[in-house]
Amino acid sequence: MLTKSWMAQGSCRAIDPDIFFPSDGVGVEKARQICTKCPVQGPCLEYALALKIEHGVWGGASERQRRRIARARRVEVSSKSA
Ligand code: SF4
Repeated sequence: MLTKSWMAQGSCRAIDPDIFFPSDGVGVEKARQICTKCPVQGPCLEYALALKIEHGVWGGASERQRRRIARARRVEVSSKSA
């Protein structure tokens, strides 16, 4: 089961959530800069990947970046099982 305890330590907890749901690349970069200094970046990213969250910047990764990570992991798993 996924835990959410890390959320209380997120650097974004006191920041306007809209920043993490940007509409363009400039906005994504702004959010990612906050995530880069966050102590729970790893758990945040894994949470978003596990739940297949499609929108927003989580763990310093945009939607597109998370899709790439998920795809790369699927390829890695399938190549190991082949
Ligand atoms: S990694 Fe980013 S989105 Fe995740 S908790 Fe930290 S600041 Fe928030």
